Amino acid sequence: MVESLPAQHEAKAGAPAAPAAPKYLSLSGKLTPWHEATVHITQVGWTAISAVFEGIRAYWNTEAKRLYVFQLDQHLKRFANSMKVMRMAPPLTESEIGAQIVNLLKANELAEDAYVQPLAFFSGSVPGYRAVEVPTTEILITARPSPSALLTGRVNHCCISTWVRLADNMMPPRVKALANYQNSRMVSQEARVNGYDAGIILNNAGKVAEGAAACIYIIRDGVAITPPVTAGILESITREVVRELLEKDLHVPVVERDIDRTELYIANEAFFCGTMAEITPIVSVDRYNLADGQVGPITAEIEKRYHDIVRGLDERYRQWLTEV
Ligand code: PMP
Repeated sequence: MVESLPAQHEAKAGAPAAPAAPKYLSLSGKLTPWHEATVHITQVGWTAISAVFEGIRAYWNTEAKRLYVFQLDQHLKRFANSMKVMRMAPPLTESEIGAQIVNLLKANELAEDAYVQPLAFFSGSVPGYRAVEVPTTEILITARPSPSALLTGRVNHCCISTWVRLADNMMPPRVKALANYQNSRMVSQEARVNGYDAGIILNNAGKVAEGAAACIYIIRDGVAITPPVTAGILESITREVVRELLEKDLHVPVVERDIDRTELYIANEAFFCGTMAEITPIVSVDRYNLADGQVGPITAEIEKRYHDIVRGLDERYRQWLTEV
């Protein structure tokens, strides 16, 4: 039987309708009107099984009336690595994909925070499980409005998921593959059904891996700790950004090592970091409050600095932004 979500998570009657589709998307290097980009019905499902993608944010600066794409080069590099592991031959270079993203944001005249999703998939009519034989890789890029939650007071009450994180010798989490998100969905659904905001996944060694779609840091006695890239995590771009801010700006040492479940319960602070999650403070885990159950001081400072950087308010990190 399919369990229903608790009342607070059900769609509210009278909720605003989904926003209208953007004017354009980018398909195989060409700006294409949104409604003209169709595939044959027989491709549904199989194209997704081996597809890899990126999730990129662009932030609107109200004063400068400018849109900035955050960490574009790093996302393009990870996208190329995901395609490589999947044995896809990229039809466009990294800089061509980058230019397509900027063009698409311009064409859609986005003057608000946005989420950009490049997706690489094997096209053609051969089922995707045999996709190594299919020569054609296509790239689809969409860009949609997506407001930032930074500095809005968002916090997460978390549980440890009973689901286990994928492993590198199974379905490599380092590859940002659509199919990996089945694992993430199980974690998020379980957490929400049980009344939590988000789940934290342990890997097959029983150590903390990450959130459903975000990496994790904990703070213990003034030291920031995050699981290593071999713990079953996506090699997060935000995790590297946070590392730099912690070490260089806040002079907080960062240690990369395995984290035990019970370390979460006794941590002074913890937060998720990721493109979508941005900086999300974690205030409890399995109903153990972290410290006094409020957002910790280092977490609050990181959220503030991250906000200023992504919006182009902190000049020192302008090299991380691509102006549209
Ligand atoms: N882990 C998973 C599973 C994710 O989906 C994401 C979001 N891309 C992250 C971590 C964070 O990665 P990034 O900071 O590059 O967005």
